[in-house]
Amino acid sequence: MALIVQKYGGSSVADAESIKRVAKRVVDTRRAGHDVVVAVSAMGDTTDELLDLANEVAPIPAPRELDMLLSSGERISMALLAMAIHSMGFEARSFTGSQAGMITDSQHGAARIVDVTPVRLREALDEGAIVIVAGFQGFNRDTRDITTLGRGGSDTTAVALAAALSADVCEIYSDVDGIFTSDPRIIPTAQKLDHISSEEMLELAANGAKVLYIRAVEYARRHGVLIHARSTFSSSEGTYVLGEGMKNPREAEEAEMEEPIVAGVATDFSQAKITVAGVPDVPGKAAEIFKIVAKSGANVDMIVQNVSATGRTDISFTVPKADAAGALKSLAAEQNEVGFSNLVHDDQIGKLSVVGAGMRTHSGVSAILFEALSAGGINIEMISTSEIRISVVLRDSDLAEAARTVHTAYGLDGEIEATVHAGTGR
Ligand code: ASP
Ligand code: MG
Repeated sequence: MALIVQKYGGSSVADAESIKRVAKRVVDTRRAGHDVVVAVSAMGDTTDELLDLANEVAPIPAPRELDMLLSSGERISMALLAMAIHSMGFEARSFTGSQAGMITDSQHGAARIVDVTPVRLREALDEGAIVIVAGFQGFNRDTRDITTLGRGGSDTTAVALAAALSADVCEIYSDVDGIFTSDPRIIPTAQKLDHISSEEMLELAANGAKVLYIRAVEYARRHGVLIHARSTFSSSEGTYVLGEGMKNPREAEEAEMEEPIVAGVATDFSQAKITVAGVPDVPGKAAEIFKIVAKSGANVDMIVQNVSATGRTDISFTVPKADAAGALKSLAAEQNEVGFSNLVHDDQIGKLSVVGAGMRTHSGVSAILFEALSAGGINIEMISTSEIRISVVLRDSDLAEAARTVHTAYGLDGEIEATVHAGTGR
């Protein structure tokens, strides 16, 4: 008998029918003899709708009240799921984040979990109940207020519960079948991975893959939680995300399989490029520029600086599209101070990233990427690398084609087309 934490995303509990389907899955797990703790997201687009409402009554909603409002979405789904389970003849008890002992810092809208004290959950489990917990929310001890963890925070709730309860596995259910070598909506030949290392998963998530949230994967990595990402709509197994030293539960079946060098290809359309042109090529200018950008709150990803022949250089960098306007405004205000000649804003870019732990030990991995892009006649505008990732910035109109070409070049294409349940991955 195991202790299993299951997380169901908004698309899995979108309506009464879906909630009943989830209830059945939970009950099946209980029937198999396991203890079950469930973390749920709000139904469908509830969180977005609540946010819209808030913005209709106030231009800048008070953060405390916004968290009171948004946390109500998960209270609806948790209670309905508990009722559905009751009606199947099983004991279930729902708990808010604060009842579940989800203790966070005080930052409304982006709270971090600092402690989990699941006393009431333990009691309920000991009494034989199925436990349902509202995802995405917590409680701060100093302010005694309800907090939320940031969009997509229910993944983190589930992983934190799994860590605190020493669960055997944290199953994250969504409307996709698992982690794929690339986004199957862009690359139909993308294959579902049997397993992936958490460090590869973090790089993919940070570079555009949307199946799992970065903070949840980080939390799992730090606390040694085994994640199993799988689909609510099928009973087939999904993808295991393995932390350091963790064994693949399916190892026995496929012993001796050689690990591929590249785990996946991620695409990201969410960034914009800013070029600061004609920057005096003297020490301290990059520092000035990036201090200004940081103060505007923009999160810089890639940076390139041209060689200067004339004593002036161009510095280009990428930021999330939503941050670009603020960064441009702040830079423009300091143009004379910094002494650059002009600013260029380009939001027609796309980022392609190739991720694989095998890059550490294999040479020639980047050559394959560059050859594939060159054969496809695709121009590269920026390049950056980490130990296990190579990213390039391209025209956004080239990104899908580039991803398909590169996916093929690394031998990642599967024989059968991936099934996509028209899902969002949430
Ligand atoms: N309901 C929240 C959101 O939509 C949390 C989640 O779905 O994980 O962001
Ligand atoms: Mg949601």
